[in-house]
Amino acid sequence: MYLCYIDESGTSDIPGNTSHFILAGLSIPISKWRECDNQLNILKKKYDLGEAEIHVAWLKRPYAEQRKIANFSSLDYKTRRSKVISARNKELYRLQRTKNNKQYKQTRKNYKKTEDYIHLTFSERESLVEDVATCIANWSYARLFAECVDKIYFDPTRSTQTIDEQSFEQVVSRFEQYLKNMQGNSYGLLIHDNNETVAKKHTNLMKRFHQQGTLWTDVSNIVETPLFVDSQLTSMVQVADLCSYALRRYLENSEEKLFDLIFQRADRIGKTTVGVRHFTSANCTCKICAAHTYSVNDS
Ligand SMILES: [Zn+2]
Repeated sequence: MYLCYIDESGTSDIPGNTSHFILAGLSIPISKWRECDNQLNILKKKYDLGEAEIHVAWLKRPYAEQRKIANFSSLDYKTRRSKVISARNKELYRLQRTKNNKQYKQTRKNYKKTEDYIHLTFSERESLVEDVATCIANWSYARLFAECVDKIYFDPTRSTQTIDEQSFEQVVSRFEQYLKNMQGNSYGLLIHDNNETVAKKHTNLMKRFHQQGTLWTDVSNIVETPLFVDSQLTSMVQVADLCSYALRRYLENSEEKLFDLIFQRADRIGKTTVGVRHFTSANCTCKICAAHTYSVNDS
């Protein structure tokens, strides 16, 4: 039995504020679940995160007030935390006085989303994210499945599906194929970050796939409709968040460090990557497109 943790990065709206939409799933055999979860807990302890969620996009932001605190990196965690909190409270009072309600609310939200990480310098937060990505890279039994849609090449007038639907169908088909290619009967279960709109859509799609199959395969090894869990409480969904983030930042900003680590886990048949696809121009030379056509060029 295999668990496939799913998360998305970027917006599927057209045009939206990102050029790519990514849906990624990371599969592990259930016998390895405890080992993976333990490793993530050890990392959380190392960075004094307690039960906090590892949310990559919020971890990788610069926190302006940290830069204004003298010798921030030489302070201990407790002092750093108290100094950041007091600087943030000051800023919130200031914004309240300016009566700029929108900015006040946005700032308060940013503070809330990052409050678990304020005792870590920017470079410590980067190391944490890299440590998690290194963990993933070392999980030889894990497989990465993903659909990366370059929205410039997605024509909603010609497609019968939305970007969401296409992405979900692709990821489901590739995970199903992976299970089918294994010896013996291997079953799989999808686990998503909870999100009401996605939950309803993906549940209905999955019911249809069970009845009619996807465009590419019948679905007999993936069981049930996706389970939805709270990503704040489930470390393995946070790992799927990291994978989708790393794929998007590679395609949009050419950031290779995290990508090179997690892409090692992409499902491959021989030397061809079959688990991850970049939906884009036929001339794309990115590492995903290159790995997809490896056998065509080299054999
Ligand atoms: Zn590409």
